Amino acid sequence: MTELELMLDFHLEAKRQGPGSTDDTLKALSFMDLKQDKVLKIADIGCGSGGQTITLARKLNGEITAVDLFPQFLAKLKTKAAELGLAPKIKTLKKSMDELPFGSEEFDIIWSEGAIYIMGFEEGIKQWKKHLKVGGYLAVSEITWTTASRPAEIEEYWHNEYPEINTASAKIKILEENGFSPVGYFYLPESSWIDNYYRPMEERFEDFLIKHNYSEAAERLIENEKDEISLYQKYKDYFSYGFYIAQKLN
Ligand code: SAM
Repeated sequence: MTELELMLDFHLEAKRQGPGSTDDTLKALSFMDLKQDKVLKIADIGCGSGGQTITLARKLNGEITAVDLFPQFLAKLKTKAAELGLAPKIKTLKKSMDELPFGSEEFDIIWSEGAIYIMGFEEGIKQWKKHLKVGGYLAVSEITWTTASRPAEIEEYWHNEYPEINTASAKIKILEENGFSPVGYFYLPESSWIDNYYRPMEERFEDFLIKHNYSEAAERLIENEKDEISLYQKYKDYFSYGFYIAQKLN
């Protein structure tokens, strides 16, 4: 198995592939002034196995196109949607987020939890904007510094992982400079990291190692996840996911 296949296998069984929660998704939605008398068109980009997609489908009178590069995640989402009777509201699309086949001003909402970093925040916003109607909403969550300065160890770690990490004010400025008006912003609470992401992940460590015969690559993957969890525990006062909600102006 390649490292990518191992990574997919590890994350496939999870309810979420990143920090977040139903409450966070609903909170982000609460900033939008939505007319629900017509069917809203929504794109959920980097949807994973669809933690947030299901919440959006339950809450909105909408037609959701859930996009991910990996069909394994989309298959999980399809099964879940069918079990919950939500299949008619969710269409899945296997595509890369930087090659979206959508038309101009097609969507009322573009949603993306924990995934825009793959393109980079600014590039993602610039490319996705054309698919959003004027007055439509963008909702994205993204790793964010929660203080103006921080210890060198965590600064270096995140700069290596994701050089675009920045403070909320810097992210909001990027939104403003790209024709968006910010309508809401909040940080994900600790429970969205620990209870919904890291603890369920830790509970899968042993089974995963057994399944993969304690291979060197599997052990390495688990060690990397453990390092990330310890860094979160040590430095959680300095970073979180910021959730940014903004309206397209022009
Ligand atoms: N939104 C989900 C959540 O919060 O649970 C998943 C977030 S996960 C951190 C990032 C997702 O982006 C994964 O599902 C991954 O498969 C997907 N992804 C990675 N590269 C991608 C690409 N180029 N285009 C679309 N999706 C991609």
